[in-house]
Amino acid sequence: MTTISTNLQAVKRRIIDACSAAGRDPGTVRLLAVSKTFPAQAVREAHAAGQRAFGESYVQEALAKQSELADLALEWHFIGPLQSNKTKAVAGHFAWAHSVERLKIAERLAAQRPADLPRLNVCVQVNVSGEATKSGCAPEEAPALCRAVAKLPNLMLRGLMTIPEPGRGDAAENSALARRQFSLLRELFERIRQDGLALDTLSMGMSHDLEEAIMEGATIVRVGTAIFGERNYTT
Ligand SMILES: *Cc1c(COP(=O)(O)O)cnc(C)c1O
Repeated sequence: MTTISTNLQAVKRRIIDACSAAGRDPGTVRLLAVSKTFPAQAVREAHAAGQRAFGESYVQEALAKQSELADLALEWHFIGPLQSNKTKAVAGHFAWAHSVERLKIAERLAAQRPADLPRLNVCVQVNVSGEATKSGCAPEEAPALCRAVAKLPNLMLRGLMTIPEPGRGDAAENSALARRQFSLLRELFERIRQDGLALDTLSMGMSHDLEEAIMEGATIVRVGTAIFGERNYTT
């Protein structure tokens, strides 16, 4: 077994344990393997271990990896900051975009989605912490943004995504802070569903907080480090 396949098994075990602690069916939580900064070979190893969905944050890096891996049937999710100059590549080369935070970006994705591809699955990213440096729309803007995105052609609005503010306390404090932020996203999700939008996805939880996210209803956890190891941005 490679390190990646061992790590994948350990992450899947954590998901199963968190689901049983939360009284949830493990079949309701999907694992997105975040392969940003790691080479195509790492994705190939994860694929050999059964993983199919991969998350990338940088368009150029993702497109290069996708062409190296064109022989594999993979599902690519874009999870990075989404500016106007990236929408065409994302619309053309991904199955999901998790990081839509403005209507203008969604409109570009809708206009640029190639006609021969199925609708692009979209999540609206919400800044639940209110930190000025964080991306995502404000929670109070999310319902209107979701209503507008749901009307666009070529997109399928699936739900909400968040990256919580990191805790700066001890483990118990950080865990409680993560839970509060995930719970805010879930409440927002329920409210938007009550407004009549058929959302089914809460994209939340990473290597260090996937348990908290699953307790609060995550349906996609985005895990990089725990599968592929520490990222090195300088090389
Ligand atoms: C990098 C990244 C992740 C993965 O984080 P890890 O801590 O390595 O698991 C998840 N979501 C987003 C949006 C990311 O950019």
